[in-house]
Amino acid sequence: MVHQFRDWEKNRHIYAKSWKEKTGGKVVGYFCTYVPEEILYAANILPVRILGGHEPQDVTEPHIFGMFCPFCRDCLAQGLLGKYDYLDGIMIAQSCLHIRQAYTSWTKHIPVDFSYYLPMPNNVQSPHAVSYLTGELNAFKSAIEKWLGKEITNEDIRNGIKIMNESRSLMHQLYEYKKKENPPITGQETMEVAISQQLVDKKEHIQELKKLLETIKTVSDGKNTGTRLMLLGSENDDIPFVQMVESVNGSIVIEDHCIGTRYFWNNVEEADSDPVQLIAKRYVERPACPSKDWMDRSRIDHILKLAKDYDVKGAIVIQQKFCDPHELDIPAITKELNNAGIKTLFLEFDVTVPIGQFKIRVEAFLEMLQEEDLFV
Ligand code: SF4
Repeated sequence: MVHQFRDWEKNRHIYAKSWKEKTGGKVVGYFCTYVPEEILYAANILPVRILGGHEPQDVTEPHIFGMFCPFCRDCLAQGLLGKYDYLDGIMIAQSCLHIRQAYTSWTKHIPVDFSYYLPMPNNVQSPHAVSYLTGELNAFKSAIEKWLGKEITNEDIRNGIKIMNESRSLMHQLYEYKKKENPPITGQETMEVAISQQLVDKKEHIQELKKLLETIKTVSDGKNTGTRLMLLGSENDDIPFVQMVESVNGSIVIEDHCIGTRYFWNNVEEADSDPVQLIAKRYVERPACPSKDWMDRSRIDHILKLAKDYDVKGAIVIQQKFCDPHELDIPAITKELNNAGIKTLFLEFDVTVPIGQFKIRVEAFLEMLQEEDLFV
């Protein structure tokens, strides 16, 4: 059902290189989901999220301390190893200091034509956040225009918004099926669809997603009968981990991390007003990364609502080792989930994860949830 998405996820670099050959267009690698892809699509640039390779590496030590999070070290390693040698540009929107260090090292040691640091405000709850970001997005648009030597019109930006909105809306439709008692799509399959959404041309992804939604309509009996789980916390694109959880009768029906729902949850309003300002509003109002979720912790209500809507019995809370934003966030979220009767399992991730050890802990967690269910 998800063969094409799986192939894109596995062969992401082959895809991007052939896209370049086919279209003659430029490819920009980006760190962090606060990057406004709408503007890149407006300029016919392919945005590709930079992700790790989940393999041991020894190339980042001269550039970044070992106490930076494994995810950002793994991303930088991919660049230093030449895996992203086809990129024309690279960019980041300010999120946490770890990933910013990966970006800075990349710009110093890996040659690209274009690099851009977008100062996405951390205080997204400030009444000035939208107007500040609107100014920064206009500066970013001008930098792209200068690089490409062509103007990006409001019409182009509206087109970029349309593409991104359609892609995000289709993901919502897919996630509706995960509310079913026995969802017709597994957590692993959903993750393959979600990751590939950040790697390939959205226009192609949209076509494939429409086909998947047509097929899934016809699947009456879901194959996912395990204990309903939520996955949340730091960045996680570790498919073998998800596969392991589902192999021991867990069913990941929803997540809150930047590979999944946080990436696509809300749309840009399609109105007649300034499209750049509308994009700014969307990024300020989207479900926040914990690096931006203050003074109020807005994430808790959002996570509790997801847990309720998707009827989860337990939550696996992941922290990439040394990830400060999530380390601060996790105690408050765990407490509220527990208060709502949702038990949690905390796991610390590294570049590679000890699947054997984690399997035993996940099995014990599922057993506890199943026993509780028997006595309700
Ligand atoms: S938020 Fe956490 S997982 Fe994400 S890049 Fe920063 S430190 Fe790493």
